[in-house]
Amino acid sequence: MKYYSTNKQVPEVSFEKAIFQGLPDDNGLYMPKKIKQLPSEFFKNIHDMPLHDIAFEVAKCFIEDEIPEKELRKIVAETLNFELPLVEVEDQVYALELYHGPTCAFKDVGARFLARCLSYFSRQSHKKATILVATSGDTGSAVASGFLGMKNINVVILYPKGKISKIQEQQLTTLGENITACEIEGTFDDCQKMVKDAFLNLELKEKYNLTSANSINMARLVPQSFYYFWTYAMLGEENDLVISVPSGNYGNLTAGLLAKKMGLPIKQFIASANANDIVPAYLKSGNFEPRRSIETISNAMDVGNPSNFYRMNDLFGADVEVFRKELVGCTYSDEETSKTIRQVYGDTGYLLDPHGAVGYLGLKAYLKDHDAVGVFLETAHPAKFLDVVEPIINEKVEIPQRLQDYIDRKKVAIEMQADLGQLEEVLKTL
Ligand SMILES: *Cc1c(COP(=O)(O)O)cnc(C)c1O
Repeated sequence: MKYYSTNKQVPEVSFEKAIFQGLPDDNGLYMPKKIKQLPSEFFKNIHDMPLHDIAFEVAKCFIEDEIPEKELRKIVAETLNFELPLVEVEDQVYALELYHGPTCAFKDVGARFLARCLSYFSRQSHKKATILVATSGDTGSAVASGFLGMKNINVVILYPKGKISKIQEQQLTTLGENITACEIEGTFDDCQKMVKDAFLNLELKEKYNLTSANSINMARLVPQSFYYFWTYAMLGEENDLVISVPSGNYGNLTAGLLAKKMGLPIKQFIASANANDIVPAYLKSGNFEPRRSIETISNAMDVGNPSNFYRMNDLFGADVEVFRKELVGCTYSDEETSKTIRQVYGDTGYLLDPHGAVGYLGLKAYLKDHDAVGVFLETAHPAKFLDVVEPIINEKVEIPQRLQDYIDRKKVAIEMQADLGQLEEVLKTL
């Protein structure tokens, strides 16, 4: 499959090139040249298909023969080696729990698939690659866990000293093997700038075959479309389906929109945001106006300039009226989010995390005057946000064993200034 840049200033590339490059040189985003339609036969049978078979058929549409079928089946199975349960929270309201992977957030899905695709291609070309990633918390842990033990690939994670939670730091710094954590004297923005500068330094980029794993990579988007098909397989036979996606950088929602373009019958998508409501505001005003992000309790959605807006814009022919038809936007404050976590827990016993709670709110608002079956994505385990969730419900939250395991391990991190020279010293030793 060929991929083009949304800015259309660079030539089309293969899937392999698109995922090693991450970002095209014209600063656009890669999109598949053709969005393949799955046959009606597929949708007739989907309700009886296992998750891995569904995911394989969907993945094939994006990758075609660049990865042989047998390898691709293996990649899909290893990516989704955990459950994606659909839990009924209330009548007609379901949570799609995407947090049963190793780091307890949906980003595991994208990171695991990306890691395996990159590893496949680097084995074929006998080239070592280095993944360089800056993190404010969750992305780094999913990437570290997803790439752990991959041959031919080293991962270097830059994180701001003292600015991520204890559990997040343990998730980055205790794995060892091919994962190296660098603790940067600075902010997340400094870390991100180091990554940018490293990629702009062509000599460095070539020498260490630097690759990015950030969320604009197509190989993180592809597997996120699998679970929309899975939801339809479980619920959609007789029902109109509405799906609410708690959004920050809009990768998850874009994956859903791609699934719909492939023929998946979803009646409506809801873009649920916290106070960083750039996309809902665009739906209202018709002006896309990025701004500085504001801190909220659903912090993985604190994005002021959502990159995947440009993918959606491309899908919708840059027409705000199409956006308005395809998306309902809504935005919720921290107060509303907290109140909802407390209320839903009290009424049903179901514990939402702050991100899922925003998704739940958007869904409930829509269902007030529409008759449909609703699903919201539960993107992280509530135990990842103990500081927020425990005071709200005034109870201890049980920590899953796989999170607890990290807490008991020994931290290893290389301390450094936000300086490219110091980073290169580390790259040399890998
Ligand atoms: C990253 C993240 C989101 C936002 O997903 P996008 O694809 O960036 O819109 C939502 N919830 C959690 C827990 C996340 O980690």
